[in-house]
Amino acid sequence: LVSFTGVQKSYDGSSLVVRDLDLEIRRGEFLTLLGPSGSGKTTTLMMLAGFESPTQGEISLAGTPITRTPPHKRNFGMVFQNYALFPHMTVEQNVAYPLTVRKVPREEQKKKVAQALESVRLGPLGSRYPAQLSGGQQQRVALARALVFEPQLVLMDEPLGALDKQLREHMQVELKELHRQLGLTFVYVTHDQSEALTMSDRVAVFNDGAIQQIDRVDRLYETPSNRFVASFVGDST
Ligand code: ATP
Repeated sequence: LVSFTGVQKSYDGSSLVVRDLDLEIRRGEFLTLLGPSGSGKTTTLMMLAGFESPTQGEISLAGTPITRTPPHKRNFGMVFQNYALFPHMTVEQNVAYPLTVRKVPREEQKKKVAQALESVRLGPLGSRYPAQLSGGQQQRVALARALVFEPQLVLMDEPLGALDKQLREHMQVELKELHRQLGLTFVYVTHDQSEALTMSDRVAVFNDGAIQQIDRVDRLYETPSNRFVASFVGDST
């Protein structure tokens, strides 16, 4: 669905925060970008989202260079750690927002919002305001808002980072299940090994601006390509 070819990124013109990045994102997969703080995961996601441009190399979406599709036309759903719901809108209005922007007819909006809220198990809370919800519920609203327009790609950056451990583990299971049900393509950024290993089809292990290995979870354990991967992935156990 997406390919990065020889992508590099420097913010200051000299040091590379992402280097020599070649990456294929497959349609329908749950791909996690995993690595320590500062390893370039967020920068990679920002380039994919179109908020940053590569210093070198190319990113293409279904065969077309991504720069030819402006960000608002890429049809990506996004969920970040500070989920930024609109505080003056109800849950339903928040989730309907991407549909309103796309001028989807009212009746269809209603149906899709109800489905999206159902899928994150928030059906009965549609008329509440964000301040009347727990952190986990707010995060689920953000998720419903990112999924409601059936995006071709869902980008998530540490979306569970602000939640307590128990809720985080619960949401990991829910996210995985949601991915299975919807069949969308998920790209997920985290520094948490166990989170990555629990949810993903494939994991790209980042260190120092480069992918050390990209593979299925079991293969990362069984055949780590270098010491960094072995110790970083091994830390989760
Ligand atoms: P974290 O998990 O801490 O967010 P990360 O792996 O996502 O880490 P990035 O956020 O991509 O890493 O950061 C990689 C490097 O790029 C870091 O050294 C960071 O300081 C630098 N960096 C990130 N964004 C900018 C920016 N807008 N301007 C300048 N430098 C930046």
